[in-house]
Amino acid sequence: MTATTVWISPSATNYSCLCEACLDQARLDGVLFADALMVASVRGAIGAEASAASVRCRAGHEIVLRRVERPPNLSHHDSRQLQLT
Ligand SMILES: [Zn+2]
Repeated sequence: MTATTVWISPSATNYSCLCEACLDQARLDGVLFADALMVASVRGAIGAEASAASVRCRAGHEIVLRRVERPPNLSHHDSRQLQLT
């Protein structure tokens, strides 16, 4: 199982996200979507200086928070560029 990665803005000190593993599990279980959102909701605070953090949802799935550092126009992943470096 891979951890959910959540990107947060450079100035954010709070985060609010959804655990993808919980959403997947809820889908398998046939849980109502509104209930699934409540179960999968993860929120908290992150230090303004922290560039990354690892948190866990209520079910214990790992969620990796990463702070966006690049300008938005460079944030897309281009595998060809990565191969050139
Ligand atoms: Zn979860």
